[in-house]
Amino acid sequence: MISLSVLLADPGTIRVSWGLQGMEYNCPYRVTLYRSEGFSGPFSKIGGPFLPEVISVEDLLGKKTRPYYYAVEVDLGEAQVRFPRIGGITLSADLIPLAKEALRKTIRSIRISRGRKILYYPTRTSGPYCSCFDRVNGRWDKACRSCFGTKFQAGFYNPLVLHAAIVAGQVQDSGKDSPTSAIIPAISMARKGDVVVERENRRWIVGEISVGEYARVPVRQTLQLLPLDSSSVLQELPVDFSLLGIDEVAR
Ligand SMILES: [Zn+2]
Repeated sequence: MISLSVLLADPGTIRVSWGLQGMEYNCPYRVTLYRSEGFSGPFSKIGGPFLPEVISVEDLLGKKTRPYYYAVEVDLGEAQVRFPRIGGITLSADLIPLAKEALRKTIRSIRISRGRKILYYPTRTSGPYCSCFDRVNGRWDKACRSCFGTKFQAGFYNPLVLHAAIVAGQVQDSGKDSPTSAIIPAISMARKGDVVVERENRRWIVGEISVGEYARVPVRQTLQLLPLDSSSVLQELPVDFSLLGIDEVAR
């Protein structure tokens, strides 16, 4: 079965992502994406076929007031299995416009607290396995330069550009260090082990994640940022810094 999720990647963008459920799955597949303004359709094709990926599709904070519903069709290639189109999916009805406004405030408060743009690399959790994965033993190379130790080809999805308020860790009186953390607009795909890259090529691994809600809708997340070892293979993850553009000054 395929899972489909629609989330806010940043204040201006909805991203649709998908993944086949079940870790044992290992063959190429392609996805065609459809959209409708009504729960039951009619759906029109908006793109594809795509490889397993996260794609940016909509400008949410534009003039739009009605939610979109998405559906995908999956082509498993050689296996010649084709899922029927899967039912409509949308952002929570609450998210528009209530949480949309809350999210806007979240972004603003992040900017005011010296927020800046970061690149967020979600870890791949499905798709074709990397050649380093040994299916017999269930082992893989944690220092692989191809999958970056994730066991899935390419290792990470395309990065999201997010506004983040990064709070430096501090040494406490107790002698225990509080970790560095980042506050970001909530993204449903965030998980432990994702990678955050700052403009200066400072890289972090995401640790514990906590979620802040507004009217029961997740609007912000606080990520624990764990320093990346200088010898980690993740230091070699290719990064396109031009995606960051410039940081706007909060007004
Ligand atoms: Zn690998």
